[in-house]
Formats: sequence, C-alpha cells, structure tokens
Amino acid sequence: MSSKLPDIDFCNPASIAERQLALLQQQLGYLHRASPYYRELFASVGFAPEDCRTLADLPLLPLTGKADLAERNRDFLAVAEEQVIDICQTSGTTGEPVTIWQTEADLQRLARNEQLAFAAAGVNRSDRVLIGAALDRVFMAGLAYFLGLRLIGATAIRAGSGQSALVAELIRQQRPNVLVGVPSLLLALARQFQENGRSPAEQGIDKLICIGEPVRDADLSLSTLGLALQQHWQAQVLGTYASTEMATAFADCTAGCGGHLLPELMLVEIIDEQGRPAPAGEVGEVVVTPLGVEGTPLLRYRTGDIARLHSEPCRCGRQTPRLGPILGRREQMLKCRGTTLFPAAISSALQELSAVHGHYLEVHSDFDLSDRLRVVVGCRDASLSAAIVAERIAAKTRVKPEVILVAPEEISKKTIKSDQRKPVTFFDCRKRSPELE
Ligand SMILES: [Zn+2]
Repeated sequence: MSSKLPDIDFCNPASIAERQLALLQQQLGYLHRASPYYRELFASVGFAPEDCRTLADLPLLPLTGKADLAERNRDFLAVAEEQVIDICQTSGTTGEPVTIWQTEADLQRLARNEQLAFAAAGVNRSDRVLIGAALDRVFMAGLAYFLGLRLIGATAIRAGSGQSALVAELIRQQRPNVLVGVPSLLLALARQFQENGRSPAEQGIDKLICIGEPVRDADLSLSTLGLALQQHWQAQVLGTYASTEMATAFADCTAGCGGHLLPELMLVEIIDEQGRPAPAGEVGEVVVTPLGVEGTPLLRYRTGDIARLHSEPCRCGRQTPRLGPILGRREQMLKCRGTTLFPAAISSALQELSAVHGHYLEVHSDFDLSDRLRVVVGCRDASLSAAIVAERIAAKTRVKPEVILVAPEEISKKTIKSDQRKPVTFFDCRKRSPELE
C-alpha cells in the first residue's frame, strides 16, 4: 500500500506530518469500515473518522490495551478469513496467546518496514546478514527480517536462535558481516568462539543489530551489555525495538542514538500515568498506531513499555523522532521518595560489579506510598560489602536500596523455576492500585 506512494522526505518535518495525517485519516476510515472491535468502540464514544482533522486530534481517541486485544481477539480481525496469508502469535494477558492475522499487503508492509529499518542501520545489498531469530513457531520477527533483507537484496543466512554452537559454525562457514539477534545470544556466541580458542573479533563481523533487549542506557550511550558486545566483536552495536502487535520497528541509524520512527508506517505517542500526552521529552508509556495494517489493525495501542522520545534532529539528518531505550515495563515501575526507576536499572548497575553472581529484587509498599526496595545479591567475595553494592546502585539510580549479600546458590534457589524460561528476579509484594491492573 504505502510502497506505491512517493517516499517521505525524512529530513522535512512538514512533509512527514502531512503524510502522517493523510495515512491516519485513511486508517481511521478503514477501522470504522472493517474492524468489528473499532466500529463498536467508535459508536460507543460517538466518533466518526471525519472528526479527525489534525494529528492533534489523535490523543482524543480511546486507547487500546493488551487486555482488550486478548479478551476480544477475534473482533480485531478486519478481513475475511480467506484473505489471511500468515498467522502470528504473541503472549497475551489471559494465558492464551493472542493471534495477529496478516494479509498479503501486511507482509509487503512488513517487508517495507524491515527494508527501511535495515537501510537506516546501513545494511545494503553487498552485506551478508545472519538472522539469529526464529523463522518458525508463528513468530513474526525472523520472517520480517528475511522479507526486509530480500527487498534490500542482501544475503540472508537463516541461522535461527537455537544452540550457539550451531550458529557459530554457520558464521565460520558462511562468513556473514552483520549479525541480527538478541544481545544475550550474541554474547553467548562470542564466548563460544573464545572457548574454542578463536577470537570473535576476527570473524569479520562489522555490525551487530540487537533485538529484544535494549543495548543503550537512558542517555543513549551503550549500556554495559552494549559495550561488552562492541568489545568482543569489535563491531558497531545498533539497537531496534519492535513487537508483533505493532508490526513495525524503531531502528537505530548508523549514528546509533535511538530508534528512528518510520513515519509512514506508524504514529507514536508517549502518555503519562493518567493516560494524557506526556510533556515533550518526558518518560512515559509508548503508545503506537501502526499505519496501513489490514489484517489486525490497531489504534492507540498501549505497549506497556516505558521510554522517552527524542525529537531534536539526528546527526544522520533525519528529523523523525527517535525512541530511547525501553527503561522497563509499566507495571514494574518503582517509586522511591520521588524518584522513578525500573528493575533493569538496578540489574545494569550490578552488571558492573564482577564479584556479583546473580541477584533478585523485592519491592514492598511503604507507609507513605513510597516503594521499599530490597536487593538480594549473590556473592562469595569477601572484599564486596552490602554498603559498596548499595553505593553503586545509588550512584546509577539515585536510590539507595537495602542490600543483602547471600551465597550465589541462594539466588538460584529463589530465581530459577522449572516452569519459567528465564530466571525470575523481580518479586512485587506491593499492594496493587487498581489502575495498574
Ligand atoms: Zn539518525
């Protein structure tokens, strides 16, 4: 759909806004016509698509939450079943997975999205790109990367996200120069090479495109994890942020300072805790309206992820807003005497202490509506004290929690559960306020 239109001039804010308004109006008309969920929602609030005259009208429309998508999943399907070409699933809020239905046009849009995202990261047709993400299991990401690389004309090496030994072998045989994968996989791969007496830096990799987890701190510089990847591979580290529901990516350009919005494919807003637009540049929840989606279109979808938008022009010349790293999940937001932080900031501070072997975080409600944090840290090294750990966390987050040092086995006992894929390191013992549910 959008690929038939002339390209947006990313360096011209007026051109971006004009195109976005036209695409939004088109999308609202489509939602009203084709989506059972939104037709009913618009009727219930007395909204007609022609009521939207400027982009500033968008925040007046209702939000869509993850629970809406889970509970009314089938009502979001906006095409006849036989138009569906591909089915994706993502985890829902009810325990049942949520289905995202895609048409042929949606797959073309997905390809266009990744073409633009890879192009922003400097990938071109002479590159050999290893995809370290699954193309099966009804996941969207691996398929999207493959379709985007095909449009660019680059060589795709579909390694998947399985055992790092297998992926390492493919790197040795097929000599990619770009790796796409979650940072923890890319770090495990580097270690795999080292264990076999080979240096990851000598594998000819010049770019790492990191998915799924942030590689930058709030100030947009590389995080401890991002720096470790850069050092091991001696490659440029770039981040992306995307989800199955939004079917669109925010991709770092080669300047590496936040994920550029692809303005012909999505509108983005940042909202505060009351659901109002957050002041420019402030941290809040990321709300997205993907444009040009046919199968499972969404309006003002609350991602639950917390970040801030940077709107000053980028060094690359683009004037599209850039999304900073995801700081955490809305429901994991911690408030300690006026300071807001997320568990990830504490994990990041602990990553800098080599004597730390695992940790978990407990949060309790305090009498004055402030959260009380207790960080339990695994350590065998007598030179590390609870006071040193607390100071390090305070230096990074401006919050000094209670710190307890225990044997590393105590941490594994508490955090590793047989029914969970990842260790559980966050224990929320707060009394819940209903608006967070
Ligand atoms: Zn840029």
